[in-house]
Amino acid sequence: MAEWMPGVERIPTAAVGGNITPHGVMSHVMQGWQTTMIRWARERPRVTKKSAHFTIGRDGRVVQHVPIRRQAWHAGRLDPGEPPRWLLLPSGANPNDYAVGIEHEGFSGEPWPEPQVQATILVHVWLFSELGLIPSEETVIGHFATAPASRAADPGPTWPRTRILEALRAHDDARAALTRADYDRATLRAYLGVREHSYRVREDGRWEYIEIRRPRSAGGQVTGIV
Ligand SMILES: [Zn+2]
Repeated sequence: MAEWMPGVERIPTAAVGGNITPHGVMSHVMQGWQTTMIRWARERPRVTKKSAHFTIGRDGRVVQHVPIRRQAWHAGRLDPGEPPRWLLLPSGANPNDYAVGIEHEGFSGEPWPEPQVQATILVHVWLFSELGLIPSEETVIGHFATAPASRAADPGPTWPRTRILEALRAHDDARAALTRADYDRATLRAYLGVREHSYRVREDGRWEYIEIRRPRSAGGQVTGIV
């Protein structure tokens, strides 16, 4: 199990906690510059108590700051009175104990340069493979998932989540490891209208990502799995 992504620049920070159990990868937009976070990592990690496992520049520069199974400090603050909406976060838990954090250089709503998109895809693909995660909207998340009020625009409308998911599914060998319980949970969520995707077993016995139609509004008839 690797803790550092091979071939990636390493600038470790002392802004790091104990061991974590990653359930997903959380993207952020910095509202600022990668050089600032690198400076924090190098010079004042215990003063500016912020860190991320990775920072990714607009030019595609990838820097890893924290081992992937140690805690970085990117999502610890929840919204008062506004509970997290991340289904894979145990109740009452600190998101930093369950999410690997990627900070992206730039500002919410600005277009993401292609080198930055390609870089975040590469980091996601490595993380999902290394951590055995299944690509879904519950594992590819933004900061808004745990702070829906204060971080509603983090990482914002230009975050290329669809492209990240497509790339992960193209690389995904982990689907075969899905259990029947995973399938049932996804189906139930789709039935309840929470999600529109699920998995099914293919003829070769592997699990496969599928779309699920929402229940029909007319007649109340549920269409079920496509
Ligand atoms: Zn954030």
